Formats: sequence, structure tokens, C-alpha cells
Amino acid sequence: MTTHPHPVDHELVEAAARVARTLGRSENHTMAAAARAHDGRIVTAVNAYHFTGGPCAELVLIGAAAAQGVHALDTIVAVGDRDRGVVPPCGRCRQVLLDYFPALRVIVGAGDRVRSVPVADLLPESYVWADHQLAGE
Ligand SMILES: [Zn+2]
Repeated sequence: MTTHPHPVDHELVEAAARVARTLGRSENHTMAAAARAHDGRIVTAVNAYHFTGGPCAELVLIGAAAAQGVHALDTIVAVGDRDRGVVPPCGRCRQVLLDYFPALRVIVGAGDRVRSVPVADLLPESYVWADHQLAGE
């Protein structure tokens, strides 16, 4: 099977990088995320670290998007502070992103290997939560 490379939304990567550069040496906020809404808007967020399981930037972004009336995201990317560049989503975020936005694309890969992939490609043999809920009464 041949897969055609999907163009990378570089404006989105730059939006996340711009927010990441504002974080300085914060211990609480070390990652920035940016997502392209279905209507073209860009939503950004940062993580809220806490030892009890504070949310990653991707999860904060889902809430921030909803607060702005954005309920459909096309693409998401996370960028680390201290010039770490694009950072792939953790396992928990991959599952949450798949369940919220099954058609979402995620920008992954460092430097010239940066690419845009379907979120489902990041979770082989995915558990699809909605498939295991009881049908409506
Ligand atoms: Zn995460």
C-alpha cells in the first residue's frame, strides 16, 4: 500500500513553537500545542504539570478549543520548550485524541522528518471506546 505524504501545516508548527518560546524555565509549563480548527482557526494551549497527573498540552487544548466554540480539529502538533522541537503525543493523548477526533492528523517527527499522519496510525490495533458502549436505550 502506497501512502501519499500529507502536507505539513508549518504555520501550525510555528504557532506552537512561538508559545513554547514564551515558557522560559517554568516547571509547570514545558510543552505547547497548537491545533488547526475545522474552520481554519488556530487554537493553542500549554500543559499544566502536576504530580497527580496534570494534563498534557494536547488535553488542555481540547478544553481551550471547546471554550472558544471549536469542536472539530483537523491537525494538532506539540512543541517542547528549550528548543526541543516537535514532540509526539504520549500514549494517553493518542487515545484521547483518537476518541475525540477520529479523523485528526498529528504532526510528528524531528527536523526534516517532520510529517503529518492520521492519529489512528499512532495507535495500531486501536481500542475504539465508542465501539464498546451499550447502544442507546
Ligand atoms: Zn500526553
